[in-house]
Amino acid sequence: MAVTTATTRRLGLATVALVSLGASAAYYATMTAMRSPGVRLRGLNWLVLSLVAALTTLLLTVLWRRVNAAVAQLTEQLERMARQRQIGLVMTDGGRELEQITRPLNRLLTVVREEIDHLRAENRELQIRSQVADAEKRHTEAIIFSISDAVIVTNRFDELILANNAAERLLGFKLAHSLRRNIDHIVHDGTLVRLIRETRSGGRNLTRKVVEHTIDHRGQPRTFNVTLSCVMTSRGDVSGVVAVLHDVTRDKEIAQMKTDFVSSVSHELRTPLASIKAYVEMLVDGEATDERTRREFYEIIAGEADRLHRLIDNILNISRIESGVVRVVREPLSLSEVARQVLDVVVPQARARGITLADRLEPIYHHVEADRDMIYQAVMNLVSNAIKYTPEGGTVTVSASVDEGRGMAVCEVSDTGVGISSEDLPHVFDKFYRVQGHSRMAKGTGLGLTLVKHIIETVHDGKLSVTSEMGKGSTFRFELPIVN
Ligand code: ADP
Repeated sequence: MAVTTATTRRLGLATVALVSLGASAAYYATMTAMRSPGVRLRGLNWLVLSLVAALTTLLLTVLWRRVNAAVAQLTEQLERMARQRQIGLVMTDGGRELEQITRPLNRLLTVVREEIDHLRAENRELQIRSQVADAEKRHTEAIIFSISDAVIVTNRFDELILANNAAERLLGFKLAHSLRRNIDHIVHDGTLVRLIRETRSGGRNLTRKVVEHTIDHRGQPRTFNVTLSCVMTSRGDVSGVVAVLHDVTRDKEIAQMKTDFVSSVSHELRTPLASIKAYVEMLVDGEATDERTRREFYEIIAGEADRLHRLIDNILNISRIESGVVRVVREPLSLSEVARQVLDVVVPQARARGITLADRLEPIYHHVEADRDMIYQAVMNLVSNAIKYTPEGGTVTVSASVDEGRGMAVCEVSDTGVGISSEDLPHVFDKFYRVQGHSRMAKGTGLGLTLVKHIIETVHDGKLSVTSEMGKGSTFRFELPIVN
């Protein structure tokens, strides 16, 4: 607009100059004519003078209007461009008079337009880059938030810049209130803070390390593999630290259980083997001089071999179920029928120990979908235990019924035996667990109930439970869903 105003002013001055010039020329021409000897007609001279003046004024007025209209046109175009925020070229009908202005103005407008187009293109690219960076940031955050390990990210001033929910829960802070705060004030575990600091200050020389560290979580010690990585910029400067805390508490427990299992198994295998070896050696050395002693030795060897056999069978069955490689053949079967088969087989064993066998086996029309051999083995283990841990004169009762309301077939094995103390009760299903003092009553492996638990719960989705009272007896109960 400044350009247009200045142009208008300049055109006004030019017009005034032209009018003055025209008037002066007319005056000079008139005076010269009047002074010349041959001129006498004063009236005519005045007429010519007036005519010239009128013509000049007319000409100037026409010129002034034309220029004025062109300037207005120019102003209007420039204002429209400003309004529409769009730069184009200007055109006027002012002819050559205004070309001196419009030409450089258009060159300037072209340069400005190119510059604006260039800036717009750059701006668009920057916006795209910023959107991509934003999307990548959200993606990275989504990954960090979705992993179950606790992740915390700090900057080069040891201030928290990112953490996932697992870290919030484990270390007890809220990300929203902790952003850009020094980890000193957020993480109360001094060792973890020290590890992050050391990693950051170690920089290039310490880009990644894994440390096992125990953190107290809600009063429970939990062991973590803490992986600390130094984040470097492209120029090789340290820009922060990422700490990932992977909970290995359960892994360590399992590793310990495996070690315990292997040592228990080898111990359990060694005992009957040692016994067999000793009796065989005595026989070889001729220490059993009479037939009665030899028979006694043979029976001990056979008994220990049986124990070894049971032990290996149980270990194999348990490990097959635990590792999921056991073959399960499901078929509709009646618990009453299976319990009856077991009772028939254990009659001699019960009679030998002076135990009465009782049954309350309702005729069950509902069936469970289960592996016959496995359920038989489970009931057999429970009934054998009941006989083993019930003193002479006691009773073992096996019942089978249906809980229609819950859609469950129920089997119970009760005895009037020695019972299990409340301290031992939670452990009787653990591998190799045997109640101290019961070993005197009967030999065992401590694996029978573990196997029953696996058969009922792991393989058949059922439920096994026990109630017991010391000196009065125990009841083992399991239930399986019935099929229609
Ligand atoms: P075991 O081969 O020693 O019998 P189990 O796993 O079958 O191994 O049983 C674990 C322990 O639980 C037994 O050693 C015994 O102490 C106890 N137990 C199992 N059944 C009974 C029962 N009916 N009455 C009393 N104690 C029992």
